[in-house]
Amino acid sequence: MLDADFFRRWMTATAASVDREAERLTALDSPIGDADHGSNLQRGFHAVAVTLEKEAPDTPGAVLVLAGRQLISTVGGASGPLYGTLLRRTGKELGDTAEVTEEQLTDALRAGVDAVMQLGGAAPGDKTMIDALVPAVDALSDSFAAGRAAAEEGAVATTPLQARKGRASYLGERSIGHQDPGATSSALLIAALEEASV
Ligand code: ADP
Ligand code: MG
Ligand code: MG
Repeated sequence: MLDADFFRRWMTATAASVDREAERLTALDSPIGDADHGSNLQRGFHAVAVTLEKEAPDTPGAVLVLAGRQLISTVGGASGPLYGTLLRRTGKELGDTAEVTEEQLTDALRAGVDAVMQLGGAAPGDKTMIDALVPAVDALSDSFAAGRAAAEEGAVATTPLQARKGRASYLGERSIGHQDPGATSSALLIAALEEASV
């Protein structure tokens, strides 16, 4: 079973890995965006980690709802509302129980990913974070490790795609040949589940 502590560790591990990879995320956002994805998420997840430390919500759902709210209020870019919606919606799905199963987490994440697709209008293949999150959620029913592998593969598979949503879509065919920064950071978020469980 996964308790509030697990969800706090998940968010803290995400903040740490976004810190480590911030330069790379920003570099990926340079040719097909405005070179701020790393700094956007660094600011956002830093605020998440600080707030969780201070407020220490005591259910899994409350941890994610608070984290999502922080991302929405601290990240100015497109990724703030999108990641914020992902975490808030996932948290709401988890309800107010003290512990949840891995299966409940997977189902809640699926609802969270659906909410991101609703908000941003992106479908799989549009070269966005959705291309890492959808395969990840499908694979998470096997294990966290399988989810991570699927998210990483999904991120790499955005390279040959032409962007149809977000800033990168303004480049048309010139967006082809670059890995999507948001899909790359989504793989970090999913990978952090594994780190949180040890
Ligand atoms: P901005 O583009 O406002 O500078 P970021 O650089 O932080 O914001 O985030 C860019 C990432 O957001 C993209 O790489 C993509 O994965 C994701 N993204 C942008 N628009 C959408 C959308 N409509 N739906 C899903 N993801 C999106
Ligand atoms: Mg950007
Ligand atoms: Mg920007």
